[in-house]
Amino acid sequence: MTQNKPMPDIATRAYADSLDANDDLAPFRNRFHTRADQIYMDGNSLGLLSRDAEEMVHTALEQWKELGIDGWMAAEPQWFTLGEHLGELSADLVGAYPDEVVVTGTTTVNQHQLVSTFYRPDGIRRKIIATELDFPSDIYALQSQILLKGGDPERDLVRVPSRDGRTIDEEDIIEAMTDEIALAVLPSVLYRSGQLLNIGRLSMAAHERGILIGFDCAHSVGVVPHELTASDVDFAYWCTYKYLNAGPGSVGALYVNRKHFGTRPGLSGWWGYNKDRQFDMVHEWEGAPAAGAWQISTVPLLSTAPLLGSLRIFREAGIDRVRKKSLKQTEYLMNLLEATGLLSPTYGYAIGTPVEDRRRGGHVAVEHADGARITKALKNRGIVPDFREPNVVRLAPIALYTTFAEIWTVVQALKGIIDTGEYLEQDEGRNIVA
Ligand SMILES: *Cc1c(COP(=O)(O)O)cnc(C)c1O
Repeated sequence: MTQNKPMPDIATRAYADSLDANDDLAPFRNRFHTRADQIYMDGNSLGLLSRDAEEMVHTALEQWKELGIDGWMAAEPQWFTLGEHLGELSADLVGAYPDEVVVTGTTTVNQHQLVSTFYRPDGIRRKIIATELDFPSDIYALQSQILLKGGDPERDLVRVPSRDGRTIDEEDIIEAMTDEIALAVLPSVLYRSGQLLNIGRLSMAAHERGILIGFDCAHSVGVVPHELTASDVDFAYWCTYKYLNAGPGSVGALYVNRKHFGTRPGLSGWWGYNKDRQFDMVHEWEGAPAAGAWQISTVPLLSTAPLLGSLRIFREAGIDRVRKKSLKQTEYLMNLLEATGLLSPTYGYAIGTPVEDRRRGGHVAVEHADGARITKALKNRGIVPDFREPNVVRLAPIALYTTFAEIWTVVQALKGIIDTGEYLEQDEGRNIVA
């Protein structure tokens, strides 16, 4: 210990300010519409609007106004291949070849498309692996895909149980990979606890056992770098309205490994046809030799355009820098909860997210028995988290627009809400959109 250089007291506001002063991504905050009276911690559910995304929507409207039908070929970039173009621009985010990604559909629709393609029950291999902690939509989709293939979801959907109610042990997933399993569909990051699974390890284990594997990357794309192709993942899908900030209900994306090009999509449509011959209007199927083959319908221009702006920001910032800052922010948040005394029985908060960097996605699950009321009390103070049953307040500092000072203020609020008893004035039910 040197005498004249004391350890920084991480619980101080001054320490937060010093982190902001040394943050090379700080200038990106100005690219977003943040509100002076609000601290937005919900970018893992719906990312904020950037000026770049806004501009590209205006551009799309102008193009439509000026070009009408000619926009399909004459707009810049042309609408006809916009899904492919955005797929190329997204490829770096997921570690794919440019033609392995296409921007199309929505998360659950893309899941249906890919599972209908790659779930091929055969002999005793009829089961699908998922987890007990999956996002419900993923489970509903798998149940109905099993029904469509004549199976029984009770029997054929294997939901790997959680040992602690927060996380899934990768050993348990691998143990479930028996010779009755045809397919595994897993989350990259669990939506509630924020646990990050090891995609490479699970893909290798699946393939060693003759099982195909796909990942729902809704909670990881735009915050965690991926190596989907190097990991030999068969397919993946994600949304663009969470960490990618492309707007409510914006068009999603899917990945298909090159080794599956030429496979007939489960749900074919003319937009997946070989682009050079799509307007030949013949009835014999000839899919594009690319992930583009898994498109179904015409690209919805106005809910795709914002992504052009969002991806421009990601190309400038770089996903590795985003990940580095995100990890630093979530670690700072967890350390601050501890340093401020909030994990003591007096305050009753607990951290539900794995603390190791390699097992953590982009948000922190702060658990409290009164989580629903604490969420409402935070909102009354101008802080926007979200709540997930039964006791999780999710807080997502977003590397592109959240400051360390904001994280500090949020932790002070978590403390103040208990100190003053403010949360006790809130009613207990959660809101319909939590
Ligand atoms: C957000 C999310 C979805 C959303 O599905 P939509 O079809 O886009 O409404 C699906 N799965 C996971 C894991 C998610 O996080």
